[in-house]
Amino acid sequence: MTTAILSALPEEQQGLLERLQHVRAQRRAGRDFWLGELHGQPVVLALSRIGKVAAATTATTLIEALGVQRVVFTGVAGGLGPGVQVGDVVVAQEFVQHDMDASPIFPRYQIPLYGRERFACDPQLAQALLAATQRGLQRLGLDAAVHHGLVASGDRFVSAAQEARALRAALQEAGHAPLAVEMEGAAVAQVCHDYGIPFAAMRTISDRADDTAHVDFPKFVSEVASRYALAILDEFVRELK
Ligand code: SAH
Repeated sequence: MTTAILSALPEEQQGLLERLQHVRAQRRAGRDFWLGELHGQPVVLALSRIGKVAAATTATTLIEALGVQRVVFTGVAGGLGPGVQVGDVVVAQEFVQHDMDASPIFPRYQIPLYGRERFACDPQLAQALLAATQRGLQRLGLDAAVHHGLVASGDRFVSAAQEARALRAALQEAGHAPLAVEMEGAAVAQVCHDYGIPFAAMRTISDRADDTAHVDFPKFVSEVASRYALAILDEFVRELK
């Protein structure tokens, strides 16, 4: 069973790419796909690209053209939930699109024609990723907090405290309590739902989606998140069956 490992940013893919065995490259839809093996498991490494549409195209290509049978995502996100701090990890349980609003025709946040507001990750795959996250952090000698719950996605880098507060309040009013905000996960979850492909995702918290988000971001990705992603995914793939 081939597993796709989607990374949001090149820094997060680099370590995995260096460890990939029997590498074959394919280029499709203007994207590079790296086929090979990690710990004897067939995998395809790809960059999701940024934003919902780009990530959906990448996920669709992985499934339709490269035949992957499960998808795992690693990236960074802004912390939204109380107690979700920079350096923590969020393993997604479900996704919501915070910028979906077809009201009053459909309820706010509902994906038209799906009759739902959230897409769930595969419980088994998410549990495996959660366990790999604990082991990976342990291996790095870190006791960072690991959260498991709802992640909000939308086509906006949230970089103002006021905006983050408003986003959270609006979601909460509709019964959603997001732990983190990012720009791709809900799109990949929806594509995987359409194809019946198990999906799981982890996000290292790079910022608090506030006024300093843009300052924290680049340094954090290159120095911290890339190490997290590598250690966690290495543990994850090692236990894949
Ligand atoms: N500076 C980057 C662009 C990053 S866009 C570059 O040069 O390529 C932000 C990425 O991090 C997206 O993949 C998104 O999913 C995630 N992210 C991290 N913090 C976020 C926040 N506060 N709001 C939205 N997305 C965030």
